[in-house]
Amino acid sequence: MKKVVIIGGGESGVGAAILAQKLGFEVLVSDFGAMLEPFKKELTDNNIPFEEKGHSFEKMASYDIAVKSPGVPDHAPVLQILKQNDIKIISEIEFGFLYYSGKILAVTGSNGKTTTSGLLYHVLKIAGKSVALGGNYGRSFARIIAEDAPDMMVLEISSFQLDDIDTFKPFVSILLNITPDHLDRYDYKMANYVNSKFRITLNQSQSDYFIYNGDDVEVSNKMMSFTGKPTQIVISKDKYMNGIVSKETGRNFEISIKGNHNLFNAACVVEACRLLNLSESQISSGLSSFVNLPHRLEPCGLINGVEFINDSKATNVDSVYYALDAMTKPVIWIAGGTDKGNDYTVLFPLIKDRVKILICLGLDNEKLKDSFKPHITAIYETTKVSEAVETGLKLGVPGDVVLLSPACASFDLFKNYLDRGDQFKKCVEMLMV
Ligand code: ADP
Repeated sequence: MKKVVIIGGGESGVGAAILAQKLGFEVLVSDFGAMLEPFKKELTDNNIPFEEKGHSFEKMASYDIAVKSPGVPDHAPVLQILKQNDIKIISEIEFGFLYYSGKILAVTGSNGKTTTSGLLYHVLKIAGKSVALGGNYGRSFARIIAEDAPDMMVLEISSFQLDDIDTFKPFVSILLNITPDHLDRYDYKMANYVNSKFRITLNQSQSDYFIYNGDDVEVSNKMMSFTGKPTQIVISKDKYMNGIVSKETGRNFEISIKGNHNLFNAACVVEACRLLNLSESQISSGLSSFVNLPHRLEPCGLINGVEFINDSKATNVDSVYYALDAMTKPVIWIAGGTDKGNDYTVLFPLIKDRVKILICLGLDNEKLKDSFKPHITAIYETTKVSEAVETGLKLGVPGDVVLLSPACASFDLFKNYLDRGDQFKKCVEMLMV
């Protein structure tokens, strides 16, 4: 019996363990840190051994293969030990791919992965296709294969997941955009991060498709020297800025999610669905009925004519750019949190047109205040989300929108972006009664 060690005991690792056990491997899950209770329970219920808060290095030489979770950085000592012992290390999506024969539709990019993969899944699902959604969001790829192996899989894929693939080969790959992110994992070199994202095309052949953003600077630069084989479909502004036309009706598709960035995301989805031979009316039904996950430009209330929108997932400058770009009313903008080395310059032209008030919500607001002082006359600050919401309402007039789109991580004041968004929504709700 072949032996597999799985490094990392989160969703990817546990999914891989479940699949490996089903395939007849002898499995150990090994985690450097403490594992979450539900994952430990699941492994125990399935009689899969695991160790946490440290790896037993002495055992590592006895394995045939190692499956690495995307959260484990390349320099982790356990990976060095495995390499010294010539144990092949593959990522969880590579492991899954070895045992999956259906069609893979893979979505990557710095922003918009969850929205786009969710939309693609929704359109396919309501068209009656046998399809599942997972990868970087929801169930891991390996777990889906173990649990229900549908004909098609929409996978949200991060750069970390692409780093350790060998043969992983999507039928359709979608590259949404590339902006600086996670550079700590790429020796602080943008080129390494770009190369990692492009690995999504690594094994694609001419009968596969690569849908990419023709207006993205990093993507376009890289395409100049691209030698990959997939059939290319470029999506640029001229294809979607005035709406996406149905080939059946000649009219624009109705799309439930708003903003130019979402028009772009939808254009990628439409191309992918056409490649999968969906009819235009099937595509139309999916596009108009999609409800995005919370915390992404999520409308969450109207009080005295002032609208409140929760975009807590906007944790970088690029996503705030698109949020502001999507606003059609004067904006009272709530931003701030843990700075990720933000350069706010790209926002200045939009700010001038659309933002009347900035409410800084963070422990340290100095950089935000300094950056926007020349562009916004009214700047307030607070460390309380309730106060931010109340101030927004007090200063707003009917027709304004109070937008939480922080451009920063949430860890200074909140558990995570979900907690930040939930607290924001709760405060709005309380003012509505
Ligand atoms: P990801 O899964 O890549 O983090 P999400 O779909 O969760 O992406 O969206 C994250 C943030 O990025 C949200 O604020 C969303 O409004 C914004 N966003 C969505 N699509 C795009 C896009 N194509 N370009 C830039 N920002 C986007």
